[in-house]
Amino acid sequence: MKEAKANEIQKCALCDLGVMNSHVPVFYTVKVDRMCIDMQAVKEQQALSVLVGNEEIASVMGPNRSIAKRIADGKEVWVCQNCALSLDLCVGEMSERFGDTDDN
Ligand SMILES: [Zn+2]
Repeated sequence: MKEAKANEIQKCALCDLGVMNSHVPVFYTVKVDRMCIDMQAVKEQQALSVLVGNEEIASVMGPNRSIAKRIADGKEVWVCQNCALSLDLCVGEMSERFGDTDDN
């Protein structure tokens, strides 16, 4: 998001207050996607490294497969300054609350 129109204003997704509730005109947009390592791809890359004897050469010789895949797309939400600076912010919880999971 580069800018927002007046009719696109959202409340803070975490505290449900306006994003200027701290009287600071700064807020964050946050999108949390959940990713998963493809262990088979990692094992294959490691095996190639062992065969070749050099991890860097193996990375060039290998099929350059994706090592991680997205398992849940997050929705972009607005977060106020107070919540963004809170130590209680949990990325995993945000993923559960604002993500569309493919694995459910
Ligand atoms: Zn907030």
